[in-house]
Amino acid sequence: MSNYKTGFDFAKQQDEIDKLKSFREQFHMPIDKNGNELIYMTGNSLGLQPKSTKDYINQELNDWANLGVEGHTEGKNPWLHYHEYLTETMADIVGAKPLEVVVMNSLTANLHFMMVSFYKPTEKRYKIVIESDAFPSDKYAVESQLRHHGFDDKEGLILWKPRENEELLRYEDLEEILKTQGDEIALIMIGGVNYYTGQFFDLKRITELGHSYGCKVGFDCAHGAGNVKLDLHNSGADFAVWCTYKYLNSGPGSLSGAFVHQRHAHDKTLNRFTGWWSHNKETRFKMRDEFDQLPGAEGWQLSNPPILSMAAIKASLDVFKAANFEELCKKSKQLTGYFEFLLNQLGDDSIRIITPSNPDERGCQLSIQVKNADKSLHHKLTEAGIITDWREPDVIRCAPVPLYNSYKDVFGFVERLKTILN
Ligand SMILES: *Cc1c(COP(=O)(O)O)cnc(C)c1O
Repeated sequence: MSNYKTGFDFAKQQDEIDKLKSFREQFHMPIDKNGNELIYMTGNSLGLQPKSTKDYINQELNDWANLGVEGHTEGKNPWLHYHEYLTETMADIVGAKPLEVVVMNSLTANLHFMMVSFYKPTEKRYKIVIESDAFPSDKYAVESQLRHHGFDDKEGLILWKPRENEELLRYEDLEEILKTQGDEIALIMIGGVNYYTGQFFDLKRITELGHSYGCKVGFDCAHGAGNVKLDLHNSGADFAVWCTYKYLNSGPGSLSGAFVHQRHAHDKTLNRFTGWWSHNKETRFKMRDEFDQLPGAEGWQLSNPPILSMAAIKASLDVFKAANFEELCKKSKQLTGYFEFLLNQLGDDSIRIITPSNPDERGCQLSIQVKNADKSLHHKLTEAGIITDWREPDVIRCAPVPLYNSYKDVFGFVERLKTILN
């Protein structure tokens, strides 16, 4: 669909015919001091709270109150198996098989645990490739892995950079890096959707390229999970990690997801850190001395998990299941296309969208670069009732999320931005 129109009537009408419109009602929309709904465009940073989350958490609080330790086996949702209740829907959302997915720990921790298994440097092959604009936590994590193995973190880190006066990354440049240094590269670790530009990479293409040079390939999909179709299994990636508090709406600091490709599911020779939760479920509580590795992604768990956070994830995943991820992706493309259309209609050359214009190379986020802007622009937007995300030096990141944002939100945002820019 591309016959967008500029007037308010169009936004109103699109909201009326939106098959997913009722889902907005299932979320708490943040409000201003006078109780008016804000325009929330920051689901890429912290997703909104489903109204059902409280009940899901209360269920577990009540079972804990009434059952104590017996809740592990006698609760409505026995805690012993709680992470398993999340696996299937989560696997669907990231395009993986249930065996390949587990929810555990937090994101940067999981990135490290994956590197314990998939970054096994040798004297000759030890370098790591990341995007030059990688999320800082990811950069710090890979640098510390280099140092941990006794390598220099400057010399061992290769940055896949945009060309001069460009923001987006080109595959030719990654190919060139591999052509010249492929036999020295142990790991390629890329943000599946770049947090800054919103560029959604071709995971399969990067994986095949990396594997053809003998490198391991992993992705941080924090900005992809729940936002775009990741198709992790078919990408062939060795591993992936993501958080659940951005597009997956599970609350601040909530748990992370991890994917380990099926071909590694039964490999007991892989190096890894283990704990009692990586041990065979049948015999875990016999507390035997000898370790028996659990197959699949579950085998990377260490600890019994925080049930209250998992309850929030379950609440959110049930909303996703009801909405149907396929439908959400369809609406996402239309809504973000409309957002792009309105911004372009402004004809204001002080703003430039740095996110790819090809809908297949982005999710719902658009990153808008504003010439000569500083953080005061962000303050003005906040005063105008819009929650966005500011990135130095001059970029506003906005994500109309198909689950709870409307065409009217997008219209309202662009109108207020126009007023502020004039
Ligand atoms: C949000 C985000 C993080 C945050 O990491 P935590 O460990 O959850 O604090 C890390 N990496 C990327 C790419 C992110 O988008």
